[in-house]
Amino acid sequence: MIVAVSFFVYVTGGTKNVYVHLMYIPVILSSMFWGPYAGIASGAAAGILVGPSMPKDVVEGIMQEPINWISRLVMFAFIGLVTGYMVDRINKLNEEKQERNLKSPFYDLPNEKKLFADIEHNIKSGINFKLISVKVTNLQEIEKYVDNRLAFDIVIDLAKKLTHFCGEKRVYSYEKDELILLACDGCIADYEAKIKKELEYYSSYPVTMNGYKIRVSLKVGVYHYRGEDSSPIEMYNKSRIAYEQGEPNESGIYYYDDGFKTRRRELQDITGAMLESIHKNEMFVVYQPKIDIRTNRITGAEALVRWKRNDKDFIGPNIFIPIAEEIGFIDKITRYVFENAVKQVEAWKKKGININCSVNISVHELLHDEYTKWDYDFISEQNADRSDFEVEITERAIAYNDTKLIEKMYYLKELGYQISIDDFGTGYNSLMSVGEIPFDRIKIDKYFINRINKTEIAELVRHFIEYVHTMGKTVIAEGVETEDQLKILRQLKCDEVQGYFFSKPLLPDEFEKFYIEFNHISKKVPSF
Ligand code: C2E
Ligand code: MG
Ligand code: MG
Repeated sequence: MIVAVSFFVYVTGGTKNVYVHLMYIPVILSSMFWGPYAGIASGAAAGILVGPSMPKDVVEGIMQEPINWISRLVMFAFIGLVTGYMVDRINKLNEEKQERNLKSPFYDLPNEKKLFADIEHNIKSGINFKLISVKVTNLQEIEKYVDNRLAFDIVIDLAKKLTHFCGEKRVYSYEKDELILLACDGCIADYEAKIKKELEYYSSYPVTMNGYKIRVSLKVGVYHYRGEDSSPIEMYNKSRIAYEQGEPNESGIYYYDDGFKTRRRELQDITGAMLESIHKNEMFVVYQPKIDIRTNRITGAEALVRWKRNDKDFIGPNIFIPIAEEIGFIDKITRYVFENAVKQVEAWKKKGININCSVNISVHELLHDEYTKWDYDFISEQNADRSDFEVEITERAIAYNDTKLIEKMYYLKELGYQISIDDFGTGYNSLMSVGEIPFDRIKIDKYFINRINKTEIAELVRHFIEYVHTMGKTVIAEGVETEDQLKILRQLKCDEVQGYFFSKPLLPDEFEKFYIEFNHISKKVPSF
C-alpha cells in the first residue's frame, strides 16, 4: 500500500498536493496489525518513499526541502508508534478483561465458563474425558468455626495436589468448596489410585495445617464422557449428582451412572410415602442397650426409629431422617418416638426394669416452641418422670446454633431431662464450647471408636474423657464392635458403651430378655 500511495502521489503531481496525506492509511493499518515497531518502520519507509526522491512538483521538477520531507517522515513514524501503542494497550486490557471473566472469584484458577468452553472444545475434537468434581464437604464449618484463612488454604493445597496430577489449566473452581478436574482419557495415569490416596490422607485424623488439627472430608464425583449427547452444564451436574450419593459425612469417590436419576425419583417417592408412614403404622421404635462398663450393667437405652415401608422394605434412618428434617416432618417422628419411649419406660418400670432412655432430637424442632409444649402435655398425661429421659443433640447442631439452642438446652435441664451430646468429635468445636453448654453425658462418635487402636486417636479420646470427667460428667462410646475396642476403652476410663459388641438395637420384648439375661449374668462376671 505504501508503494501504491507513493505512485499515486507521483502521478497526481507530487507532494504539493493533498494526496500525500493518504500515506497515513497504510502507516496506521500496519501499526494496528503488527504493533508500534511496525508502525515506526512503516512510517519511516513511507517518509522515505515520499521523501528525498519525490518531487514537490512533478511538472515543474521542483524538489522538496530536506526539512519538509524529514519532518513528514518523523510525523509518519510518530503516528505509527502512537497508534500501535494505543491498539496494543486496548488489546491487552481486553485480554485482561477476558481473563478475569474466565477466572474464579475465589482462587487463582479458571472458572466454570472456561471449564464449559474447554468441555465444548473436547467434544468438538472428539476427545473423551472424565469430569471429576472434588467437594470439601465440611469447608463451611471449618470457615465458620475454625478459621477463614485455613479453609482457603485447604482448597489451595488441594488444588496444588490436583494440578500436580493433571497439569496446569485442568483444575477449575466453580463453588468455593469445590474443585473440578477435566481429565482427557488416558492423560492422568492411575488417577483413581492417586485420588484415593489423597482422600485417605485428608480423612486420617488429625491433619495438621498451620498448627490446627482438623479433619477434612472430601467427596469426589466422577462423570465419564464417552461421546454421548449432553451439554457441559449437564455433565457438570452429573459429576455432582455422583458425589451427592455418598453418605453425608463420609469421604469417598463416587461414579455417575444413569441409575442415579432413577434413585432421585425414588427419593421423592420415599418422601411421599413417609408422610403416610406413621398413620399406616409402618414406623416403630427399637432400643439399643447402653452398658455401664464400670459395673457391667445395662443402665440405659437409646430409642431409634425404624421404618418398614409397605411391610417389606426397611429404609434406614440415615436416608429418611435428613429428608424429614428438610420437609418439616421430623417433629412428627420425634413425637412418635418419644411417646413410644415414655410408654415403654413406664411399662418396663412396672416389671422392675429401670433404665434411662435417650431420644434423638433434631435441632430444627427444638428451636420451635412447639416441642416443649407438647412434651409438657404428654409427660404430665403419662405421669412420667423426666429424669428417666435423655435428650440427644448432635455436637454439629450445637456448633451451628449457638445462643438460642443453648438457651433451649438450659430450659430442658430445668424441666428435668438429662442431655447428651451425640456424635461428639465431629463438630469442630470439640471441648471448646462444652464448658458453656449444659449436658450430662458426651457420646464419642463411632468414627473414633473404629480407629481407637491407633495411638493418636486413643490419646485424643483419653483427652476427651479426662476433660469431661474433670467437669463431673460421663462419657459413653458409640459403635463398640470388638472386644479389643472395649479393652482400650476400659483402660481409657470410659464410663459406658453402646454398640454391636453387646447388642444391636432391639424390639421391646427382645430388649427385655436381653436386659434380664445380661444383668443377671453380669453380676457374676468380674469387670476386667
Ligand atoms: P445416632 O443417634 O448416633 O445413633 C447411633 C447409630 O449407630 C444407630 O444407627 C445405631 O444403630 C448405630 N450403631 C449402634 N451401634 C453400632 C455399632 O456397633 N456399629 C455400627 N456400625 N453402628 C452402630 P441408626 O439407628 O441407623 O440411626 C442412624 C442415625 O439416625 C442416628 O445416629 C440418629 O442421628 C438418626 N436417628 C435414628 N433414630 C432417630 C430418631 O428417632 N429421631 C431423630 N431425630 N434421629 C434419629
Ligand atoms: Mg443418638
Ligand atoms: Mg451418634
